[in-house]
Amino acid sequence: MTWKLATLVAALTSIAACQAPEPTVYDIQISGGVVYDGVSESGRAVDVFIDGDKIAFVGDAEAANATARETIDATGLIVAPGFIDPHTHTLTDVMFEQDGQQLAGYLTQGVSTVVAGNDGGGPVDTGGALAAVQERGLGPNFALFTGHGSLRGEVMGRENRAPREIELDEMKAKLRQALADGALGLSTGLYYAPASYADIDEIAALAAVAAEYDALYESHIREESSYSVGLLGAVDEALEIGRRSGAAVHIAHIKALGVDVWGQSEDVISRIEAAQAEGLEVTADQYPWSASGTRISNALIPNWAKADSDEAMYARLRAPENRDRLIAEITENLRKRGGPGAILLVARTDGLSSRTLSEEAAALQLDPVQAAIDIVLGGDARIASFNMQDADIERFMRQPWVMTSSDGTNGHPRKVASFPRKYRTYVEEKSVLSLAQFINLSSRLTADTLNLCGRGQLKRGYYADVVVFDPQTFGPVADFSTPSELSTGVQHLFVNGHRAIADGSLNQNLQGRALKRGACADIKETAS
Ligand SMILES: [Zn+2]
Repeated sequence: MTWKLATLVAALTSIAACQAPEPTVYDIQISGGVVYDGVSESGRAVDVFIDGDKIAFVGDAEAANATARETIDATGLIVAPGFIDPHTHTLTDVMFEQDGQQLAGYLTQGVSTVVAGNDGGGPVDTGGALAAVQERGLGPNFALFTGHGSLRGEVMGRENRAPREIELDEMKAKLRQALADGALGLSTGLYYAPASYADIDEIAALAAVAAEYDALYESHIREESSYSVGLLGAVDEALEIGRRSGAAVHIAHIKALGVDVWGQSEDVISRIEAAQAEGLEVTADQYPWSASGTRISNALIPNWAKADSDEAMYARLRAPENRDRLIAEITENLRKRGGPGAILLVARTDGLSSRTLSEEAAALQLDPVQAAIDIVLGGDARIASFNMQDADIERFMRQPWVMTSSDGTNGHPRKVASFPRKYRTYVEEKSVLSLAQFINLSSRLTADTLNLCGRGQLKRGYYADVVVFDPQTFGPVADFSTPSELSTGVQHLFVNGHRAIADGSLNQNLQGRALKRGACADIKETAS
């Protein structure tokens, strides 16, 4: 071979190498599924590549000359961003329940990130709580609100009065620390005593601190029914807090609770749309059930009776001089909620199965109001309260600013079946939402609203939180008689690139991370 020929061969070889370069090899390739990326209005037949804890690439594998060490066949399956649940009560499960860290009931809904600390109950020491959760390990990712009720409780107990200036300053200082430590924002539970004793000035002053950190004002509003200011009055208050403080407003588990406010979803929506038109950022979340879940004391006992301490409340419930007023108000509260037949006693600690307050009262040979008082005096009970209309539920659900949540509590199937139920009932059966809308409102909208950056989309450089589910079988199993049965249909669930569910079976690995608001400098540089 002459030197010229050798040069030519070398040149041709290098051209051939350019034409068929070595493929890029990633860790995992999910191929053959229909991919919904969290933003698009429809699905695409493309592949998703995962490398380490990030999404390496979403698109045509051949065109990109990409391959992987492991391929997952997703033929016939839906591939989507892992769902994000913005309202749970999982801090107790994670920290105190035996084997509660895995949160299997959320993973099997396709949820890769849960948020806790809502309703004003989030820990004051958010940084400490996030560190403790990370230390124990957990299945999905985890983020926290810090709570007004907790701040107020630490500074001024259960007192029924406005804070003194020095007390408000102390609450602000503790809130600043929590936000600096990664809290998603300030949550309130203005319906609940003692937070209900706070007026709008107190809340707006605290929400202004959240605004300093570009964090959310998140609220279980003062009223979802017609107890005091009314649903519309409470929505107006939440919007006014946004206006005064400059914070983005998020309304928790939006609903029209009870016969007196059925149909008011229309007015709620137009008020929120008007506020958005004037420049306020307003969002909400919703669980797809017609029954709420709470304690019988929260549902029926008037707030004035709850001040100071449980002992003080018990004394008021027993005091003969309060009797007529209590009976009148509890009777009225029962009427709003549809009567004693619409209150189901659940998650009972006495080992009995669920039964309605009517049935319970009959068994105790008491009238329902006295039965309710006795139950509270005996240590309270969890209830499912059937108090919503489907027309309101669907009207809220259609709004592009309403995201999916569970508000999961023990004894209510929403804890294990909210996302599958929303899909099965409101996408598949009733076509209230398209599949893409359901996915986008369960992932991207939530991540963007909560400032969980690098989450909520299938996008290069984002964290690999990915759900792969079977559209034929994704659905709830739990109902009110078996409220803990795990949902079906999730074939694979990736949390930070690791499989929490593989081939339909739960793994024991705890790959969730404690997430801080907006902590993703590395994502912004790499994502495209
Ligand atoms: Zn709530």
